Amino acid sequence: MQRTIEILEQQRQDLVIRVLKKHEEMEATRIFTERILAGLSEFFLLLDKDFQVIQANREFLEHTGYPPLEESPLSLDQLVEPGQAATIRQMLTQEDFSEMEAQLRTRKGDRLPVKMRGSTHVTQNGRTLHMLICTDCSEFFDLMFQIQEGQKQLIHSSRLASLGEMAAGIGHELTQPLNAILLFARNCLKALDTPGDHSGMLRENLQIIIDRVNKASSIIATLRSFGRKVEEEQAPVDLNEIIRKIIKFLEAQLRLSEIHLDLRLWDKPCEVLGVEVRLEQVFLNLVQNAVQAMGRVAKPRLTITSRITDCLNLTTMLKEPYVLVTVADNGEGIPEELQKKIFDPFFTTREVGTGTGLGLSIVDRIVRGFSGYIEVESVPGQGASFSVYIPQYRREKKAEPQGERP
Ligand code: ADP
Repeated sequence: MQRTIEILEQQRQDLVIRVLKKHEEMEATRIFTERILAGLSEFFLLLDKDFQVIQANREFLEHTGYPPLEESPLSLDQLVEPGQAATIRQMLTQEDFSEMEAQLRTRKGDRLPVKMRGSTHVTQNGRTLHMLICTDCSEFFDLMFQIQEGQKQLIHSSRLASLGEMAAGIGHELTQPLNAILLFARNCLKALDTPGDHSGMLRENLQIIIDRVNKASSIIATLRSFGRKVEEEQAPVDLNEIIRKIIKFLEAQLRLSEIHLDLRLWDKPCEVLGVEVRLEQVFLNLVQNAVQAMGRVAKPRLTITSRITDCLNLTTMLKEPYVLVTVADNGEGIPEELQKKIFDPFFTTREVGTGTGLGLSIVDRIVRGFSGYIEVESVPGQGASFSVYIPQYRREKKAEPQGERP
């Protein structure tokens, strides 16, 4: 009997030692995994079958501001928007998780953009565990935002630089009405000093003064519209209208440079989906480049045409109608080896201080932003031609009213 008690006691002690050892092993594994998780720069979340978070690493808690899970439980629904929670749940349950972009809700309610991966595991004793690993993308988004802001600023600066280039022409355009106003106002004063009825002449002169003031104001208004900051909202824009506006604006510059303008616009509106001010900038740049390229030509000739043509849309792989605007000159032209380079930022062949080399790179970026593209053709010494293709905007036809059949 005593022997049996001793054996049983020995077995009990062995069992306790084994349990303790097992516990130690498990504790070591737990500490080990926790250390690994703590060292991860990504957010790690372990969820149970009901999508309650049962483990979260320090990185996650620090970035989202949530207290440790022992203090306050956390569920998937608290972490992401209902729509995203449903998608995540479905992908985990179907064990088919493709990497997705998500917005984690922090404790304060801010949104934290992340790239999320996930997987589901069933343990030996049948317990379902979902694992989510998220990469914090907020720095990337901040950087993208700063780059976009920088680009907007750059485009705006290049636009202002274009305005500067036109200053000579605009000065000339404004001097004319101002001189006329001065002349007619002096006439009025003289008429008032001399006796007799000059009311007819005064009326006429004052009317001319009013007309000239209106002309000067319209020049200033156009100038303002070119200098204003841009709304990025896209809307249907008629490229024919844009070209007419630019020509009106550059009239004086073209006249001063004795450039013959050959304008052949499509007889119907050439509408595209874009931002008016940006499109103005595209054609303003192309026309200004053409004017500069014709600086040493005896008979400079600028040809601008617009039309609708069917082109292959590389996104849909379908033939679709595009608006095609071509700006061609008979200037110095572009050697073949430079034709690709001219679209690179800061590439310029102009003298130091005259060209920024940004014009065409911005033009290209704007056109691509409206799903279009640019082609250039040139024979050095004979001129260059820039063709801008942008998908035509087609208004949906209103349904024909269904008349009653007789
Ligand atoms: P910038 O006008 O400040 O040089 P752009 O990006 O507008 O910058 O143009 C880059 C270069 O492309 C110009 O320096 C010039 O060499 C060439 N280029 C652009 N348009 C024409 C043109 N119509 N004819 C000849 N060369 C041109």
